[in-house]
Amino acid sequence: MKILVVNAGSSSLKYQLIDMQTEKVLAKGGCERIGISGSVLKAKGNGQEKVIKEKMPNHKVAIELVLEALTDSEIGVIKSMEEIGAVGHRVVASGEYFKKPTLVNAEVLKTLEEKTFELAPLHNPAAATGVRACMEVMPKTPMALVFDSSFHATMPEKAYLYGIDYNDYKEYGVRKYGAHGTSHKYVSGEAAKYLGKNPEELKIVTCHLGNGSSITAVDGGKCVDTSMGFTPLAGVMMGTRSGDIDASAVEFLARKKGMSHTEILNYLNKNCGVAGISGVSSDFRDLEKGAKKGNERCLLALDMFSYQTKKFVGAYAAVMGGLDCIVFTAGIGENTPYVRASVCEGLKFLGVKFSNKENKAKNNGGIREISAKNSKVKVLVIPTNEELVIARETKALL
Ligand code: AMP
Repeated sequence: MKILVVNAGSSSLKYQLIDMQTEKVLAKGGCERIGISGSVLKAKGNGQEKVIKEKMPNHKVAIELVLEALTDSEIGVIKSMEEIGAVGHRVVASGEYFKKPTLVNAEVLKTLEEKTFELAPLHNPAAATGVRACMEVMPKTPMALVFDSSFHATMPEKAYLYGIDYNDYKEYGVRKYGAHGTSHKYVSGEAAKYLGKNPEELKIVTCHLGNGSSITAVDGGKCVDTSMGFTPLAGVMMGTRSGDIDASAVEFLARKKGMSHTEILNYLNKNCGVAGISGVSSDFRDLEKGAKKGNERCLLALDMFSYQTKKFVGAYAAVMGGLDCIVFTAGIGENTPYVRASVCEGLKFLGVKFSNKENKAKNNGGIREISAKNSKVKVLVIPTNEELVIARETKALL
């Protein structure tokens, strides 16, 4: 069976077509600037890439173009769209409405649209648009919603509740939901496979460090705590997001800067994090370049990010009562040795013996062990693959 994985943003739509027998990606690509001028689809298949510049007034037109590319005479990998067994849609927030991946029907779509948009106003409406567009173009193909937050549904109440009036949690659903669940699930599973152990035997901290970053405690294969919260603004500071901050400081800043609720949230999401601290960039490659040239604020941003990540690693080792493995993944986790070394520095007391040599070895695109051979706690770099998890979950639903 072939499964199409769709990740729709407000003006973008990324896709992968995966053969589930081999779990190989047959084709992939993305539409950009949907609904605005200069729309473009970059589609890869058969070892070639085509750049298709066509008007895409909406997601429906975008998905039609994707299907044309998938069946194209040069880069196409299937004869007709009937070969697509199902579509798996990435959805960021589920709230408490969906605890696991769910097949789409009218009621499910209604719940997604009426209940969850507030929880991820940038992401969930886009996902619903993507689902509706695919349903119009492929009405007979089963569709699944795969939520970033599902993997975190196993957190105990004491981990996901905030210290607010319990009635307000019940009334409004204000609690920690977490994000990047598909990534944390994938890399913790791969770590267990690599270590030749059952996930049930392992206590793992997974560090998904990218433009958005989150750290998760995975005990016995299940999430027991995670650093992101009600929304993906919480936890460690990120590219442009502040991460955890005293709520009183937010009100104080808004007052001083004359900002509305929406404006201060925009500020915390878009103007803070390492970009705000460095004043240079949200991209860790730029920060490393700056730090090498002696820019102290670039170095400070790198060090703050690593320090905050380390604090979660320590906290989660305490939460689980032990630690067998630390996993680094995503753009920064896979590519920035400085951050990995800073996070692991001084963790000998937990049983981490770090290998600077392995840490600095070239990224070969596969799993790498960057702890010393005799380290009690294994430190691994594992490339994430969220699309594959979405495809697997979709297949399992069918
Ligand atoms: P992600 O959100 O997982 O795509 O990660 C994006 C971030 O990863 C970028 O903002 C960079 O800071 C970082 N990144 C990606 N590739 C590299 C690389 N080759 N070297 C260093 N940092 C990288």
